[in-house]
Amino acid sequence: MRMTMTEPNWIAAAEAVRQAQTILVVTHIKPDGDAIGTLLGLAVALREMGKTVDAAVDGGPQEFLKFLAGSETIIDDLDRGQWDVMISVDASDEERTGKAGAYGRAHSPLVINLDHHPTNTLFGSIHLIQAQAASAAEVVVEWLEQMRHPLSAPVATALLTGVITDTIGFRTSSVTPRTLEIAQRLMQAGAPLHEIVGRTLATKPYGHIDLWKRVFPTVQLADGIISAIVTPDDIKAAGLTESTDGGLVGILISVEEVAVAVVFKVQSDGTVELSLRSKPAFDVSGMALALGGGGHKQASGATVSGTIDAVREQVMPMLRSVVQQGRAALAS
Ligand code: 5GP
Ligand code: MN
Repeated sequence: MRMTMTEPNWIAAAEAVRQAQTILVVTHIKPDGDAIGTLLGLAVALREMGKTVDAAVDGGPQEFLKFLAGSETIIDDLDRGQWDVMISVDASDEERTGKAGAYGRAHSPLVINLDHHPTNTLFGSIHLIQAQAASAAEVVVEWLEQMRHPLSAPVATALLTGVITDTIGFRTSSVTPRTLEIAQRLMQAGAPLHEIVGRTLATKPYGHIDLWKRVFPTVQLADGIISAIVTPDDIKAAGLTESTDGGLVGILISVEEVAVAVVFKVQSDGTVELSLRSKPAFDVSGMALALGGGGHKQASGATVSGTIDAVREQVMPMLRSVVQQGRAALAS
């Protein structure tokens, strides 16, 4: 069931930070640009305020995000410390924060939940959740403004990286005039838009193309649903070390005849990771939530146990009903 969002409690959150000396910031596992941008933007800003801050996420940041100031301080295997406050950013549920989140919760008396997912489970005791924000980074911008903390160039750069990556360069249906206003403020504070786009959206390793060569033969299109399958063998053969689709799902959803796109990423532990995308009239977040995952209307994900055949049998009917519901709404 979808939770009702509460208004962000800026005052309680600011007061908790004011009283804290030690703060832990965590984000979701397999962190993307918004996860790392928000983690670092907030952690560096809190350090500027004189706080002692740890930033942690299992496995650390991906290579292409290591240009961000403070990325070398991210703890990739958190197993010591205690904090006055833990802040979780861009994670819609507690499980998404992995081992770092579990350790942090056990060693912090107070948890602030800062996020922009409509599927957020409202964990933690203070909520800064804006489901209308296109990125978690935007929520941090607003919070820093509430705390009257001026944006430095390193903080602005990390936060604009979150905005740019989650909106795919201002191209998603989640972008509003407010998103652009915030981006403008971040640029004015010194964030280099062109460099961020170059390092994130406009660059990919050849391994991703090599992966696509292997995965394209699995692409199928029927009744508005396009799908592809990535196996651990494909990942290995393409010289990659982590499970990814190399952004393929974003290409598949651009196909004119398509309403929803799914990439099945088979894992070696008997699970299958799903990447789901949809055109604006269609909503994949409900089915992701039902599968134990979450996300946004147009971009969601989940990890499901079972063989690829069993998972496809479970997931394809759900996608068909997403397409039916969207088409019915469009026709009415
Ligand atoms: P991607 O396809 O890029 O991996 O994920 C798209 C979006 O779906 C993410 O930004 C995130 O919001 C959400 N998402 C992906 N996987 C999971 C998951 O396992 N659990 C939850 N709660 N959300 C997920
Ligand atoms: Mn995000």
